[in-house]
Amino acid sequence: MPLEPLLQVTPHGLYVPAADLYLDARWAPGTVFVSHAHSDHCSKADRIVCTPETAALHAARRGRRDTLVLPLGEVVRCGNADIVLHSAGHCLGAAMLEVRTADGVLVYTGDYKLRPNPFAPLATILRCDELVMECTFGEPRYVFPPDELLIGELVSFVEHALADDATPVVLAYALGKGQEALYHLTSHGFDVMLHGAIANMCREHVELGHPFPGPGLWTRYRRGEVGRRVLLTTPSTRKTAMVQGLPKRRIVHLTGWALHPGAHNIYKGCDLVLPLSDHADYAELVRTARESGARKVYTVHGPESFSGRLRALGIDAEHLGSHPQDLCEDEETAELAPAPAPAQGSLDL
Ligand SMILES: [Zn+2]
Repeated sequence: MPLEPLLQVTPHGLYVPAADLYLDARWAPGTVFVSHAHSDHCSKADRIVCTPETAALHAARRGRRDTLVLPLGEVVRCGNADIVLHSAGHCLGAAMLEVRTADGVLVYTGDYKLRPNPFAPLATILRCDELVMECTFGEPRYVFPPDELLIGELVSFVEHALADDATPVVLAYALGKGQEALYHLTSHGFDVMLHGAIANMCREHVELGHPFPGPGLWTRYRRGEVGRRVLLTTPSTRKTAMVQGLPKRRIVHLTGWALHPGAHNIYKGCDLVLPLSDHADYAELVRTARESGARKVYTVHGPESFSGRLRALGIDAEHLGSHPQDLCEDEETAELAPAPAPAQGSLDL
């Protein structure tokens, strides 16, 4: 008797029949696993499955839904399978999904990174029969320098700006990178003023038991009161009065796309672009595919060429193409993906 496929592609996105679960579907007629609360992964489905942290962040961003809240490491029966969530290291609450069925084990990474994150346990590579993995930075040029080095550059940038009586402006997304940036800034003693969207997510972090370290202090942005603080704001505000109205400023943008060959044109209003990312880089992606031991690897997001690179390494890989999540507008996944070839100056961030 043929094995039941572990994964199906449906009009609503990826579906795991044994667990009767859709993966990060914007909407689906059944239950959706929400890997994390970035806007491109939030769901309008009637019922969702996620970690407690993602449930809280999802509710803050999209309103409450019927939710099966599943802490990391807890095994529950779901349809004809057992499911377990594991840290994805991407942002607070982000999880990988492991589905254990009679026909084998499927793992879905969602967005992830294998490097440390102050708000998540370190992610590990899970052994499985079939792997569904994101591949946002699935080209060899995207190998990030060590985070310690990048954080050191960020600190040095801020110090130099303040020494020059300029306001340091740090551009980062509202959920995930914004909190990582704040964590490193306050722990290095800088006082920070936050865009409201980032401040809202920071408040959720505190309520979920993840306060920000001192000695630096943080507060919500109030016009005309930035003073000698760092302004931490979203990329979309770079050209607004909030940033452009500052008498003297130095702007740094935190994004893995800093390593894109056209980055100096794309981010030409910035003084510095640092490849501080909450995604796996190319080396981590290849390691994940290899060390998972999966007999079949499906890639999502990112470039189709990554699956070809895996096949060249002897891994049976298939790209599943774009799906609705790729339409997102405000997270790193979609900043330049899936085909990062923007015309000069076309990215209004
Ligand atoms: Zn994400």
